[in-house]
Amino acid sequence: MPDNPLRKIPKVDMILESPGFKRLEARFPEALLKDVLREHLDSLRVEIKGGRKSAVPGVEQIVQEVSRQTQALMEPGLKRVINATGVIIHTNLGRSVLAEEAVRAIMKVATGYSNLEYNLEKGTRGSRYGHCTSVLKRLTSAGDALVVNNNAGAVFLVLNTLAEGKEVIISRGELIEIGGSFRIPDVMKKSGAVLREVGTTNRTYIEDFERAIGDNTGLIMKAHTSNYRIRGFTHEASSQELVELGSRYGIPTYFDTGSGFFHAYEGLDHTREPIISAELKTGFDVISFSGDKVLGAPQAGMILGKEEYVDVIKRNPVTRALRPDKFTLAGLEATLLLYLDAASAAQKIPTMAMISESGGGLRKRARRLAAQLKKRCPGAGISVVDTDSEVGGGSFPDMTIPSAGIALIPRAMTVAAFEKHLRECRVPVIARIEHERLLFDMRTVLAHDEADLVEAIVSVYTDAP
Ligand SMILES: *Cc1c(COP(=O)(O)O)cnc(C)c1O
Repeated sequence: MPDNPLRKIPKVDMILESPGFKRLEARFPEALLKDVLREHLDSLRVEIKGGRKSAVPGVEQIVQEVSRQTQALMEPGLKRVINATGVIIHTNLGRSVLAEEAVRAIMKVATGYSNLEYNLEKGTRGSRYGHCTSVLKRLTSAGDALVVNNNAGAVFLVLNTLAEGKEVIISRGELIEIGGSFRIPDVMKKSGAVLREVGTTNRTYIEDFERAIGDNTGLIMKAHTSNYRIRGFTHEASSQELVELGSRYGIPTYFDTGSGFFHAYEGLDHTREPIISAELKTGFDVISFSGDKVLGAPQAGMILGKEEYVDVIKRNPVTRALRPDKFTLAGLEATLLLYLDAASAAQKIPTMAMISESGGGLRKRARRLAAQLKKRCPGAGISVVDTDSEVGGGSFPDMTIPSAGIALIPRAMTVAAFEKHLRECRVPVIARIEHERLLFDMRTVLAHDEADLVEAIVSVYTDAP
């Protein structure tokens, strides 16, 4: 085969000796560069053989590609992005942004030793589970508390401990699925508990629960319908009724409240999120919720309740498999301490602050950024608009918060292409597309994101208006 195109691929030695490659050796580890080069040449051969590539690249082109791939390899894949979607607790974008106090606490235990499992008073082994307990008890009046890795783990642990091999009675209207394939019926099966669903999707009465009670009933469960609402012809058994029924028959009651909401705040509709202390006061034996939803802390699952129940849960061997690390505990405890002062919590915890930021303040920020963008993106359609944010993360379902944002119509590019390029920026920007415009909701754009947001938009617009 005289003109076999594979033969035209530059020889490895030639590439290694080229000035371009030598320059790369000053920037990147040599072994890594050679690996990337070999992999790139292999895939070039496959592409050319398969007829998917006709033009054979030269040395310079190959060196450039190796440089790009090596650079990408050496950058962390998990990185900061700008959330301009207006969804405050965005599960895909990392849920809660931590308070400065939480970050400082994490830094401290990360850069030195700590008393994670050491009792300073006695000079003996201590328990990692003790760290957040006292503040959780103070905030909620719970008898005891246990922190695990996340709320899905908490639900599993509660069911496995209190109802393995026994029936768990729950309303058909609460057989929830949280994103990412967490479904109550599936978790229940894995935990060894037996699902006993009662009532109908829209109407469940306390009598339905009572009729289902039998010799093998282990638990009465309530789950917060955190990401949907059933409206219209509906009825549900109240917390009060469930607790009363449980105590009449000597069956423990458990409420998976989802979000972890401690205080009633002005402007938020509290019929949509259960308040932890109120539910405990009603008399639930066990309650569980997430750390990184409305609570605004690191990912964690909180199990609160009467001492006797939390105690058996602690002694379940599975607890060890779900234990939180020291960073979680440090960040969580620091966040919980902020809640001791309810008013300042709403300002210092970013999740809470974003929920409560006023429309006026957001509009002012939108105007300021829009003015900068108009100057630097001549010809683009840029305007300040009213929009609606969401709390998200399975909290305050179905509720929108009036917000302000910036709308942008590119000149020579489609809105979809512009949106894609924004995701490829140095600091990627995640925006919404609405009514054929790009929309940047200011509610979730942090103060320290503003400059990078403007730079990203300007750079995409300048490359292709
Ligand atoms: C979010 C949620 C869960 C799962 O919590 P993670 O923190 O995602 O593990 C379980 N139950 C309810 C009601 C929820 O809203």
